[in-house]
Amino acid sequence: MTTLLSTSDVAKIVALQGPQQVFAGMLDYLLSDFLRWQEFDKSARVASHSATGVIELMPTADSEFYTFKYVNGHPGNPLAGLSTVMAFGALAQVSTGEPLLISELTLTTALRTAVTSALAARALARPDSRKMALIGNGAQSEFQALAFHYILGIDTLHVYDVDAGATRKLESNLASVPGLRVVRFDSAADAVQGTDIVTTVTADKTYATILTADMVEPGMHINAVGGDCPGKTELHADVLRAGPVFVEYEPQTRIEGDLQQMPPDFAVTELWRVLTGQSAGRQRAEEVTIFDSVGFALEDFSALRWLRDAAGRHGVGTRIEVAPQSQDPKNLFEVVRAAQPMLARV
Ligand code: NAD
Repeated sequence: MTTLLSTSDVAKIVALQGPQQVFAGMLDYLLSDFLRWQEFDKSARVASHSATGVIELMPTADSEFYTFKYVNGHPGNPLAGLSTVMAFGALAQVSTGEPLLISELTLTTALRTAVTSALAARALARPDSRKMALIGNGAQSEFQALAFHYILGIDTLHVYDVDAGATRKLESNLASVPGLRVVRFDSAADAVQGTDIVTTVTADKTYATILTADMVEPGMHINAVGGDCPGKTELHADVLRAGPVFVEYEPQTRIEGDLQQMPPDFAVTELWRVLTGQSAGRQRAEEVTIFDSVGFALEDFSALRWLRDAAGRHGVGTRIEVAPQSQDPKNLFEVVRAAQPMLARV
């Protein structure tokens, strides 16, 4: 049997554990998987583009588990009452192919993206970072704010969104978080000024320039989350020239990240190399570091693994028959025969 987790189920796990515990748990799973990077099957995700957005498939596997995520990105969706990003996925046993877990991954993507951002920032930002600008106050934003608060000790957020309603929503959602001050600004340039970390998490299917080189101050860490698709960027190319650029999986980021604007020989470092100590991260306090995040399948692998364990611990989820549960695996037809009496009753 397969465990099915709905969005309400995942929300229940978050409520049971509390966000701080969830971020800490997911961080452990992510870090342990990044540290064994070589053990994974890796490929750039498969994307299907349309005029309004993109639908992507993200598979990966180690010797024990195979996972995949289906995810879309449609920046115009909120106008139609839908989320910009929606996702679901599965975790299966490699030795048998049996699907063990099918889960919503929309809420989970927000959690794992925030934890990945914080994991990168913990390795790359100045350790004394306390102020973060958060540009783009949509669905991902509270998760980014909380992960940076709990994991890095960010205590002040400078927030800005072209949609003032999104910023009001963010302020209201974070109002009761102890030790986190939220200050609203009228432009990205004003919000960024004087901060240690800048997170850009906007959605627009265009070559946007949320951040230009004149806005970047010495010592800043830039966590660029929203430029994650061909023709969809957030950083001016000169921002990428301001300091070393770190990525998840280089072949994918060259296609999808802010990096798509740069020549093919523009140097970047994969994050796992910094986490394993094989490459340097930040070298000087006044250096600018840039994490060009697009989201990689390994992060969903870690999240699905964490979800399966957490759901098991809390007894959350529904057992469903995704694959036939018959006495004789060769007698698939028996499943149809067994259903016939039911049909007769219709
Ligand atoms: P969302 O639509 O809920 O929110 C995006 C917000 O950006 C909106 O409130 C919008 O008003 C704002 N915005 C758009 N243009 C802006 C601008 N020029 N200046 C300031 N604000 C602007 O989307 P979301 O779910 O929060 O996702 C945000 C982005 O993050 C998307 O582009 C998505 O594809 C990306 N994303 C990346 C990863 C990753 O792993 N890197 C994971 C999830 C989402």
